[in-house]
Amino acid sequence: MNEFSLIEKYFKALTIPAKDVLLGIGDDAACIHIEKGKNLLISTDTSVAGTHFLSTWDPYDIAYKALMVNISDIAAMGGIPWWITLALTLPDAEPSWLERFSSGLKQGLEQFNIALVGGDTTRGPLNITITIFGLVEEGKEIRRSGAKVGDKIYLSGSIGAAALAVSFLDHKIDANDQKILMDKLQKPTPRTDLQPLLNKFATSAVDISDGLSADLNHICVESKVGAIIDFKNLPIHPLVKKYQGEKAIEFAITGGDDYELCFTVSEKDEQAFLKEAAKEKIKCYSIGEIEAQNGLRAKIKEEVRNIKPHGYQHF
Ligand code: ADP
Ligand code: MG
Repeated sequence: MNEFSLIEKYFKALTIPAKDVLLGIGDDAACIHIEKGKNLLISTDTSVAGTHFLSTWDPYDIAYKALMVNISDIAAMGGIPWWITLALTLPDAEPSWLERFSSGLKQGLEQFNIALVGGDTTRGPLNITITIFGLVEEGKEIRRSGAKVGDKIYLSGSIGAAALAVSFLDHKIDANDQKILMDKLQKPTPRTDLQPLLNKFATSAVDISDGLSADLNHICVESKVGAIIDFKNLPIHPLVKKYQGEKAIEFAITGGDDYELCFTVSEKDEQAFLKEAAKEKIKCYSIGEIEAQNGLRAKIKEEVRNIKPHGYQHF
């Protein structure tokens, strides 16, 4: 049983339909109608020592990253993050550790103008769970289920560097490269800057937390469509090309933790979208197209090959 079938069987099955719940389990965040003109977005992400970070990391970075991955899910919905709660489990209450942890959290909260409004503190193996709340204009939330045949697929930035950083955690490599990669892994930038563009033009969106192929597949499954990716247009991080050589593409589409956004734009809106993105100085990469045939395909030179969605799964 994998992570997603487990959620489906034991938790999605419990859902009671409610008029105000516009989106429940299955997207980057839940979407709840709260008042005329406004929808509330809610998402939770846990960071576990040994899985999402190493307990040897600077607690500043641990806190900062735990917050960024939560913000990313609100960004993927086209929303603005406003509040979080923090459930913190600690093996012990060490002031120097807590000092650094709280500094990293403060930095992230100030950077994105988010208020910490509550939480819970318990003793146990190190674990950070953040619940984030955001707002989106009614009807402007971007769902995974909105992609239509013919829509163009876009990525907001390069992929693969965070996964490469993980693969090098135990290796010595060039110090400059190591620094670039560790920054990508520890300090991802959630793409809240795309919010106005997404609200205006995106038909669907997801953030790349598990890997492009797995996350784009979520869009395809929820939208009941398929996708073709043109491999020559993929923005692979240059260090992935440097260290992975021929395997760079395979590595980049299955590696997670990049927190770029993958989204779709209808063909008729594409030119207006590109014009506005250029005006806002936001570079996006056209990587493929939504097709009627289910599944994922790759265009490699002139050949089309099926690709299996593959990304990080906890079970
Ligand atoms: P993301 O990677 O965007 O954070 P996940 O892949 O973790 O999303 O989760 C997929 C969906 O399943 C989300 O809508 C999430 O809220 C929901 N989900 C995950 N675990 C549970 C759970 N234990 N109970 C209810 N919903 C869950
Ligand atoms: Mg997500």
